[in-house]
Amino acid sequence: MHDLKPRSSVASTFDQDPPIDISKFNHETISYDSKSSAYWFYEKSADAFPGQAFGLQVDRILYHTKSQYQDILVLKSTTFGNVLVLNGIIQCTEKDEFAYQELITHVPIMSHPSPKKVLVIGGGDCGVIRELVKHVEDQTVESITMVEIDDMVIKLSTKYLPQMAKYHNHPKLNLIIEDGFKFLRETKLKFDVIITDSSDPEGPAEEFFQVNYFKLLRNALNDKGIVIMQSSENIWLNIRYLRSLIKKCKYVFPNVKFCQCYMPSYTSGQLGLLVATIDESLNLTAPLRTFDRRKEGQLFKYYNQFVHQSSFILPTWAQDYLEQDGESV
Ligand code: SAM
Repeated sequence: MHDLKPRSSVASTFDQDPPIDISKFNHETISYDSKSSAYWFYEKSADAFPGQAFGLQVDRILYHTKSQYQDILVLKSTTFGNVLVLNGIIQCTEKDEFAYQELITHVPIMSHPSPKKVLVIGGGDCGVIRELVKHVEDQTVESITMVEIDDMVIKLSTKYLPQMAKYHNHPKLNLIIEDGFKFLRETKLKFDVIITDSSDPEGPAEEFFQVNYFKLLRNALNDKGIVIMQSSENIWLNIRYLRSLIKKCKYVFPNVKFCQCYMPSYTSGQLGLLVATIDESLNLTAPLRTFDRRKEGQLFKYYNQFVHQSSFILPTWAQDYLEQDGESV
C-alpha cells in the first residue's frame, strides 16, 4: 500500500513554475491556427485514429511532464474544462468525463447481486473511485483496491481534476502503485467486480488487450464475478479490432457483452466497453438492482436503469458484424 500526500501538499508540489508559455511550448499535439488566432490540441494517431482527429481549442497549458511510463499533458480547453492527455490521447475532460466513469462503474455494480469487493486496474484520474464511493455510502461495496502504475497521474488529477479525484484518500480505498498485470499475476485475492480503466494499448496498458489478461481476470474473480474493461475502440473506428477483442474475451468467459458510452471527447464520440462473467445465467444487459428515479437523479448524471439497457443496443450493421461468427454479443 502506497500513501499519497494530502491534497494540499500535492497541489503545491505540482504548480508548474514558471507557468508554461504556450508560444514556446513544443508538443506534437499542440499547434497554432492563424485563422482563429488560437492554439489547438489535436488527438492524432496514424495507428489508432487514421485519417481523423478530434480537436480542442486551448486556453492554457497547465502541466507537462514525461513520467517513467508516459507523456502526461494537462491543458485547460476553452470549452471542455481541464483535459488529461496521456501519450497524446485524451483520457478525460471535465465536461463529459462523468458519462464514461458512470457507465464503466455502475453497469457491473448494478448487475451483480452483492458486489462487496471491487478491484480497479488503472483509473489514475480516480473518477471510477468517485463513482464506487456512492456504493460504499450505500453499504453495498465494502472495499476498493486500485492498482495504478503511474502515481504521477493520480497526483496531477488531485490538482487539476479535483472533482474527479476527490476520494483519492478515501478510507475504504487500498491504493497500490504497481503494474496491474503484475498485480493480477501475483495476487491470491478474489473480487466480485474488476474494472479495467486503462489507457489504450499503445503504452503501458498493452498487455490488457490479450487473452492472457482475460485469464488473469478470471482467476481473480469470485464465482458470480463480473469484469468490465474499456475496449479502446468503438463501432465506427475499428470494428474489426473490436470483434477480435470480443473473440479473445470469449476464449475465457462464456458470457460476454458489448456496450457503448456516448461522449464527445472520445474519438468518434463514443467508447466501447466489454463486460463479461463466467456465470452464464446472469443477464448483464439489465440491472439486477435498481434505484427509484429520485435516487437515480441524486446519484447519477448519465447512468440510469434505462441507459444501462440501451447502452447494449447496437445499430444493425454493427450488431451483425460483431456476430458474424455466429455468437451473440
Ligand atoms: N478513461 C480513460 C480512457 O479510457 O481513456 C482511462 C483513464 S485512466 C487515466 C488510465 C490509467 O491507466 C492511466 O492513469 C495509466 O497510468 C493507467 N495504466 C496504464 N497501464 C497500466 C498498467 N499496466 N497497470 C496499471 N495502470 C495502468
